[in-house]
Amino acid sequence: MPKNGFTTTIIHSDRRSNDEYGAIHVPMHTSVEYAFSDSRELAAVFQGKPGFTYARQGTPTTAALEAKLTQMEEGAGTVTFATGMAALTATFFSLLKMGDHLICSQHIFGNTNSLLGTLAGLGVDISFVDATDAANVRNAWRPQTRMVFTETLANPGTQVADLQGIGDFCGEKNLVYVIDGTLTSPILFKGRNVGASLVVNALSKHVGGHGNALGGAVTDTGLYDWADYPNIAEPYRKGKSTSWGLTQIKKKGLRDMGGTLSSDAAHRHATGAETLALRMHRICDNALSLADHLSALPKVAKVYYPGLDSHAQHERATSLFGGRYGGLMGIELAGDIDVFEFLNRLQVLVLATHLGDNRTLVLPVAHTIYYEMGPERRAQMGISDNLLRVSVGIEDIEDLIEDFNQALAHS
Ligand SMILES: *Cc1c(COP(=O)(O)O)cnc(C)c1O
Repeated sequence: MPKNGFTTTIIHSDRRSNDEYGAIHVPMHTSVEYAFSDSRELAAVFQGKPGFTYARQGTPTTAALEAKLTQMEEGAGTVTFATGMAALTATFFSLLKMGDHLICSQHIFGNTNSLLGTLAGLGVDISFVDATDAANVRNAWRPQTRMVFTETLANPGTQVADLQGIGDFCGEKNLVYVIDGTLTSPILFKGRNVGASLVVNALSKHVGGHGNALGGAVTDTGLYDWADYPNIAEPYRKGKSTSWGLTQIKKKGLRDMGGTLSSDAAHRHATGAETLALRMHRICDNALSLADHLSALPKVAKVYYPGLDSHAQHERATSLFGGRYGGLMGIELAGDIDVFEFLNRLQVLVLATHLGDNRTLVLPVAHTIYYEMGPERRAQMGISDNLLRVSVGIEDIEDLIEDFNQALAHS
């Protein structure tokens, strides 16, 4: 059969893999334990044969979603988790040990930053660098460096990492290269194209898209050979060495840490995945129109959006993300505008903390997600009290523009 496009592949995936009754969705399997009629088969599954034993390590419903994510990322395998944070926790904590060194982008999701603080407390050394230039990653390298981590597009500053340059460096030094692709989703960017070893997606965001389920995933691109990676435990050094890393992430992250995605949530994400391409295209079109409109208004001091010529990594974003720029933008209102009064006038935009939803969401950054770090650190990072984070949704663009216009008119 010829290779189908993204959406064709995803919407026919379950039907093609599952011939029971011709169901077009793999059902929501709710069994906790899986029974065997043959004791030898039971032992074989415990010893590594594909199958199901106990739902903490996955169900046919999570496996169907994992198959779709693997197809989306053109990877070799995927493990799903209860949340994006559970996926990141499983990745860092199962692959790194005390004394190892991690190089990490300094522009990362706040909760990931906090998680890495916990990892540092357990003896992993971490260097935070400006990943918009791969030279900074290169300069941070030490003989103990095992892994490099970056996001594709940072929140809320929209910095675009030097994903290709970092990939080239990781290839040269044989480092594990982990990319959190949540903000771009596999529609705009596939980690394998820049040599990533593992790609993390917070399914709660674009893949699910409907704001009705949490979830996360780690996809192995199949590009990294774990044979020489020192932290793979003996029981997982079996079969193809390119799959050892993901096996360990699954055993540690699901079986031991227990961060398992429920079948209910897996089913919701699988439904969301069917329209990911449509939604993402609409979101990107809306966001570009909105960014263009707002950047011309005198009451808006600055718009941070990679689709604008004024963005520091505009050309890189164009070539990496195929001419689309995602749904996230930073909007700094003019200094004399009362940000709370402005936000309270909005009728369509939702005051809520989330990203990649069908609905357009807005937050005053300094007063919410960056509140904890205090005014000095915010000033260093260029985060003003009037900076808004907007995650653009799929509404009709005229309504989004009109909502900003009416709220600004009275500001
Ligand atoms: C939201 C987010 C996460 C965490 O996902 P949850 O499902 O909310 O735990 C991780 N990385 C990025 C870039 C995110 O935006």
